[in-house]
Amino acid sequence: MQILTYPHYTLRYKSKPVTRVDAALRKLVAEMFDLMYEANGVGLAGNQVDLPLRLFVVNMAAEQGQGEELVFINPVLSHPKGNEEGDEGCLSLPGLCGNVVRSKQVHVQAYNLRGEEFSADVDGLSARVIQHENDHLDGVLFTDRMTTAGKLAIRESLEEFELEQKSLRDLGELESDQEIELRLAEWVQKYCQPSE
Ligand code: ZN
Repeated sequence: MQILTYPHYTLRYKSKPVTRVDAALRKLVAEMFDLMYEANGVGLAGNQVDLPLRLFVVNMAAEQGQGEELVFINPVLSHPKGNEEGDEGCLSLPGLCGNVVRSKQVHVQAYNLRGEEFSADVDGLSARVIQHENDHLDGVLFTDRMTTAGKLAIRESLEEFELEQKSLRDLGELESDQEIELRLAEWVQKYCQPSE
């Protein structure tokens, strides 16, 4: 497992609801936490590690053994209140940051790895992180939410990421979008089937 960087195909994939949690998925989630800590992140979404599933992990402490490890499966955000500007970065856009307006407060309802439903009203940095991660599940990156001027300021950096991916592809070191799509479909087949 590795963290995908922009503009990887899976980062734009609209993730599917999870209908089954098994030992293998719990192991994948544990690996997501490991990767997140390695990268000093506070949140990581499924499609950032090539999993087309509606789940993300958060630990505001960004350090193993500290803070609280939270897993959000099939999260639903509602009741946004207020607006707040703040700086954001993303493990899939290393080195880049920018100003994004987010709701100050939001209600989140989700399931944990034991299949238990939980909900909370969150604000401050937690609210920002949860909105950022939830966006990932819809294939949305924080750069999409920047102002026109903000986007202009990071245009060159994004182009560098794009060029890098193109050269990887030219070297045959990156699958085609069709190959990726097929692999994602296998995950969906395994974890997103409606129960009978
Ligand atoms: Zn991100």
